[in-house]
Amino acid sequence: MTRVRDELRVKPGSKVVLSDHDPSDVGGMSKADGRTALLPLKERLNELQELLYATGKYALLVILQGMDTSGKDGVCKNVMDAFNPQGCQVTGFKVPTREELAHDFLWRIHKATPAKGMAGIFNRSHYEDVLVVRVENLVPEAVWSKRYDAINDFEQLLADSGVVVVKFFLHISKEEQRERLADRLEDPTEHWKFRVADLAARSKWDEYMAAYEDALSKCSTKHAPWYIIPADRKWYRNLVVSQILVETLESLELEWPPLEAEAQGIEIV
Ligand code: AMP
Ligand code: MG
Repeated sequence: MTRVRDELRVKPGSKVVLSDHDPSDVGGMSKADGRTALLPLKERLNELQELLYATGKYALLVILQGMDTSGKDGVCKNVMDAFNPQGCQVTGFKVPTREELAHDFLWRIHKATPAKGMAGIFNRSHYEDVLVVRVENLVPEAVWSKRYDAINDFEQLLADSGVVVVKFFLHISKEEQRERLADRLEDPTEHWKFRVADLAARSKWDEYMAAYEDALSKCSTKHAPWYIIPADRKWYRNLVVSQILVETLESLELEWPPLEAEAQGIEIV
């Protein structure tokens, strides 16, 4: 598990070719070992989030992107549950409302960014504006092609304002998605998740991969890196996401705030 953060990070300026990244990679680990390794990581994550809150110097923004069934909800449920709900906010971005569409594409995003001390999780994000919007031709190319620079500038502003941005692309194979969609059809407790409209995105798989390759290549920066997470195995996905979050928060080298001066030597009677 060492150096997973370096290995999975998209190097700024590099050209991502997704077929070079194996979605079913498990780093040579067994599922049992992976599950065992997750527990201490989540405890550490809990502690680090409390430290983030206590120090109030930085915010953490976790961006989750991936095809349907790639595990965005699963990461919220199985990794972010390490966080104290009081210090954490999850925002899901759906098809923009009429009001949202009447503004620039970052308007709704900026409003949802976390304040210092808080962790924010985006389930989908402004990247939809260069993914689904591009593949479905929702705006002309002249409009979406300018958005990569706008996104980099926006994320730079966040970073300059103390927001630590971490972006995860949950990389699943088309075959794994087929199985997960078939499971949804079979399981009555998952019928609510099944949308016939999602099959339209599946039928444009290669176009989505091309759009993801551009987003990952153009927008992985030092201040807001992308990570390509092998996501065919849920347990490994959860493990590496947790590991990267722990390593990211540890790199801030936060320290517990000291007792206030007036409280030195005080005795509770
Ligand atoms: P889900 O994440 O399954 O709840 O679905 C949300 C849907 O909203 C997905 O189909 C996204 O592609 C879509 N969506 C999110 N953001 C945008 C956007 N900016 N423009 C168009 N569709 C979007
Ligand atoms: Mg969906």
